[in-house]
Amino acid sequence: MTYSEQIKTRYAAALMGNYGLPPVALREGEGRTVTDVDGNAYLDMIGGIAVSSLGHNHPALVEAVSHQAARLAHSSNLFLHEKEVELAEKLLELWGNPGKVFLCNSGAEANEAALKLAILHGNANGRTKIVATDNGFHGRTLGALSITGKAAIRDAFGPFGRDVAFVPYGDADALKSAVDDTVAACFIEPTQGETGVMPAPAGYLKAAREITASSNALLVLDEIQSGFGRTGAWFAHHAEGVVPDVVTLAKGLGGGVPIGAVLATDATAALFAKGVHGSTFGGNPIACAASLAVIDTIEREHLLENVLALGEHLDARLAADPRVTEIRGQALWRGIALAEPVAAEAVEHLIGLGVLANAPRPDTIRIAPPLTITRAELDAFCDKLIEALDAVVSAPGGRP
Ligand SMILES: *Cc1c(COP(=O)(O)O)cnc(C)c1O
Repeated sequence: MTYSEQIKTRYAAALMGNYGLPPVALREGEGRTVTDVDGNAYLDMIGGIAVSSLGHNHPALVEAVSHQAARLAHSSNLFLHEKEVELAEKLLELWGNPGKVFLCNSGAEANEAALKLAILHGNANGRTKIVATDNGFHGRTLGALSITGKAAIRDAFGPFGRDVAFVPYGDADALKSAVDDTVAACFIEPTQGETGVMPAPAGYLKAAREITASSNALLVLDEIQSGFGRTGAWFAHHAEGVVPDVVTLAKGLGGGVPIGAVLATDATAALFAKGVHGSTFGGNPIACAASLAVIDTIEREHLLENVLALGEHLDARLAADPRVTEIRGQALWRGIALAEPVAAEAVEHLIGLGVLANAPRPDTIRIAPPLTITRAELDAFCDKLIEALDAVVSAPGGRP
């Protein structure tokens, strides 16, 4: 029995089964490479689900976290510290709109806080309904789950005691019909990540902004997966020039250190009066220092430009492959759609070839690698992907 097999057996005995048994037991990482407990190396093309934006063991992140841990690891919200102020200021500067920030520890928590803002906005205007989208994903806590559009993960935990209407994603007319004067807020992802990297059609966010503004409903954009460089921009919604009332962030924000954030315009942020919401760990100094290091490194190493250029290279490399029907998404946050529903087999084969990716749906391979990835590494991924498709697609015909 290899050590990997031993540790997996111990995992299955000691940890709950909600993730099944993961296929690889990781020990360490360097750059875009992670190594398992037996010493096998893998090119990390999924980045811990769009989280490890600087890759692994990046000196800037290690230095920021170590330095902060040695100075002040925790303050609680009874006292403030400098890093949370610096981070909030920086987030507002990157967002480009006047507003305020609430800091928390995860994506689901960011959406819980956004939901509380939506409820307070509704209370002030006699509205109780929340509109969300079919197949949307907002997290596993009960509030976030109540607005998640995937019945398979939601329904066992309902009813939630909340009036939620789900509309087809990307359909502005359906949104317009659903948003009347009973609606407090709409929760929308600029691109649905967990559903297989499904971008909304151009103009959808703009339409959503107009519809919600004319009805006095809040527009909440969940940028937990799409934000922080994933699409080659700090915020995916910047591409449509809209200003939502609320934005939620997490995943790539801390480069692997847990952190979440809610950005809101001044009028909406004012709903959080003293005592209304809180989190013991929210705005933790180590997490804030990590996030500041992520922002600084993305700027200093021109990582947004890097992923935009490499995204074009990926398109060019795979465009002629007949097994690939579509490469959805932007930059290096992609859903590689296959002509056959063999994504799970392809991902398993890729692991055998030393590449980590995932299959969010039967016909789609998702990649969300560190933003620091190089062109040579991306080329290595394309070579291995073609090799995996050769192995798992029944009729390989015509590959370039
Ligand atoms: C991952 C994700 C969440 C939940 O984040 P957690 O940190 O897992 O709670 C919410 N919304 C979107 C769009 C996500 O991708």
